[in-house]
Amino acid sequence: MGRAHAKELSRSYAKGVIKVSSKFKAEDFKGIALSEEDFKEKKVIFSDIRAKAYYAWTAGVAISRFLSELKEGKIIARKCNKCGRVLIPPRMFCELCYRPTDEWVYVKDTGRVNTFSIAWIGVNASRLKEPLIPAVIEIDGASPGMGIYHMLGEVDPAEVRIGMNVQAVWKPKEERKGCITDIKYFKPIK
Ligand SMILES: [Zn+2]
Repeated sequence: MGRAHAKELSRSYAKGVIKVSSKFKAEDFKGIALSEEDFKEKKVIFSDIRAKAYYAWTAGVAISRFLSELKEGKIIARKCNKCGRVLIPPRMFCELCYRPTDEWVYVKDTGRVNTFSIAWIGVNASRLKEPLIPAVIEIDGASPGMGIYHMLGEVDPAEVRIGMNVQAVWKPKEERKGCITDIKYFKPIK
């Protein structure tokens, strides 16, 4: 529509020459509901699309390094030079000092049981013959209270105690993938 024509049109509206018709109502244009059968019988035109949705996400700077070190059989933490804490799992930010952490430090693959649970029910809600023993392990070289969540193994469930000394049992190097399960479990040590 040209500018001149638009001007003329708006003038006509203003003069009342053109009126919006109220002859048609919404009810005059009823839609038709589609049923499952309409699609099966191909009464309507449609296309079938298989969506190819791929997702990728990053574990972040600290956890990415942590995971790649696990592949090498090492456990790495981050140190905050202000409060002196060694954080495991590593974090790039100290939540106490409210500032970035300063350096990478390797910690040991030994530690102590901080807390544990003896689970007789599996992930599919079935009863287990051998219980799973998830535990939080405080890692040697990290600050007190800093631990990683893992499993205990090679241990009599009745013998598990808080404070028990444990060590990581690693998968063979060729089986490690850079994930927390590169450590099979933690077993008791003297
Ligand atoms: Zn700090």
